[in-house]
Amino acid sequence: MTESINDVIILGSGAAGYTAAIYSARANLKPVLIGGPLTGGQLTTTTEVENFPGFPDGIMGPALMAEMRKQCERFGTQMINKVATKVDLGQSPFKVWVDDELLLAKTIVIATGAIPRKLGLAREDELLGFGLSTCATCDGAFFRDEEIVVVGGGDSACEEAMFLAKFGKRVRLIHRRDELRASKIMADRVQNHPGVEVVWNKKPIELLGEKPRGISGAVLEDTVTGEKSTIECAAIFYAIGHIPTSELFTGQLELDKEGYIITKPDSTATSIPGVFAAGDVQDHVFRQAITAAGSGCMAAIECERYLAELE
Ligand code: NAP
Repeated sequence: MTESINDVIILGSGAAGYTAAIYSARANLKPVLIGGPLTGGQLTTTTEVENFPGFPDGIMGPALMAEMRKQCERFGTQMINKVATKVDLGQSPFKVWVDDELLLAKTIVIATGAIPRKLGLAREDELLGFGLSTCATCDGAFFRDEEIVVVGGGDSACEEAMFLAKFGKRVRLIHRRDELRASKIMADRVQNHPGVEVVWNKKPIELLGEKPRGISGAVLEDTVTGEKSTIECAAIFYAIGHIPTSELFTGQLELDKEGYIITKPDSTATSIPGVFAAGDVQDHVFRQAITAAGSGCMAAIECERYLAELE
């Protein structure tokens, strides 16, 4: 493997990575795709996807990703179900390590996505998995008939609150402002949902509970008056956005102040020719499965053009 130079290595197996693989495999570039820590990416942690064109009745996130993966394999993508541990983009061919194995490539597509943001409260790491969660789909079913809290005010928070209402006795959505960031349709739905109560102008400042029993509640602070109160619950789900998975490229590629990879306008080109970035690792605006897939397609086409110019 170290001897041969691949045309394309794709890092990441979300909608962007898989789409880049489908396009580059069909262009006969024999892509190698390194899947990363969560095969199928963030969509494998969601429930129903209602807005991906082609599925008028909706499709479950994991099922959508399984279909994309099949499509990658159909055209001969080489899948490596591991995590890229180091990259050297200093000169061509670019180097990617998967543990001790070195792979070389003429072009790279970075589609490493983003990970859920946390509040940064004391004992978060301790209580994660013990009533504290960043994935409603993964953990919701553990809290049947329990009091559940969701933190956030975006589409994810609303979606997760409504999903969790299927399990919980009651779901309280805690938002730090008096207006949801979510799209109007989602905000209307959540506010009219009988199983969800929106708690305005509050943020958690302390997690209550201990291992192994887990979360028992949280101390909230009113963001307007500063008043403190306690909320009792068996589970707290964070849905407060994401952080781009770009630390592997720090110091090598131009990143913005939040860590998103900077790409050129109307392009997936990064600050290094031959290295392209697609999906949530470079998109802090849209962050949709379909836009990630679209940018994965753009990256594959740009790889193809870059390789053609090299020759
Ligand atoms: P988001 O839109 O960035 O919303 C994050 C929410 O968390 C905001 O309401 C924000 O409050 C709150 N927040 C952030 N940091 C916080 C902190 N430290 N303490 C308390 N609250 C905090 O993230 P998202 O909901 O994950 O959505 C990301 C993108 O995916 C969006 O473009 C969204 O439309 C899209 N999405 C779409 C769907 C769908 O269409 N089905 C589903 C999920 C996500 P503020 O509002 O005060 O900033």
